[in-house]
Amino acid sequence: MSGARPYVVGVTGGIGSGKSTVCEEFAALGAPVIDTDQVAREVVACGSPGLAALVAAFGEDILSAEGELDRRRMRQQVFAKPALRQQLEAILHPLIRVGTQAKIDAAGYPYCLVCIPLLVERGGVNRVDRVLVIDIPEALQIARVIARDELTASEAAAIIRTQASREQRSAAADDVLENSGPLAMLRPQIATLHTHYLQLAAADRET
Ligand code: ATP
Repeated sequence: MSGARPYVVGVTGGIGSGKSTVCEEFAALGAPVIDTDQVAREVVACGSPGLAALVAAFGEDILSAEGELDRRRMRQQVFAKPALRQQLEAILHPLIRVGTQAKIDAAGYPYCLVCIPLLVERGGVNRVDRVLVIDIPEALQIARVIARDELTASEAAAIIRTQASREQRSAAADDVLENSGPLAMLRPQIATLHTHYLQLAAADRET
């Protein structure tokens, strides 16, 4: 397949809900997966125009000795300063959007998954053809996050409070995968969704 625009499924969910895990399962079935966190890193890679734009706006203090973006220093600069944060986002978001679109255009498959952690929070629902939400109860979300990251339960809970609620995400969802059981339980549902997305992509192409 070439030339035609792929059908885009936006995958979202709270921190540690299982977005990456679910995306890996779709990838194993052949679906291309685009990770917007990875795009966000690529657009400010060493020597990129994105990094040059950040240095022009925020100064060389945001660079490490190796000339890479020092994310901790960048965060410190904009922390609790909404105007600077807005300026940072005004530089990054268009670059991430263009970088993501380039990957979508190059996907070479009837549909692709785009993992967008803050899809609901940032009002991006209309930019995708379908929304797949990965949902888990908050207690399990906290347990999985603290097992994976060096965070305390209260730090994980604080991050969750800054994100959309389960109800807000459910309201935006076309499909929901409930990820509280073992992954083996989810695999048949993922296979069903994969077939469904291929059908939706084919129908979309006919219209
Ligand atoms: P983030 O928002 O932080 O990027 P995420 O939504 O991509 O996270 P994952 O990294 O996929 O979430 O999953 C969070 C943690 O939970 C990981 O350590 C992962 O291995 C584990 N996990 C995900 N799904 C399951 C499952 N069904 N059973 C057990 N552990 C799981």
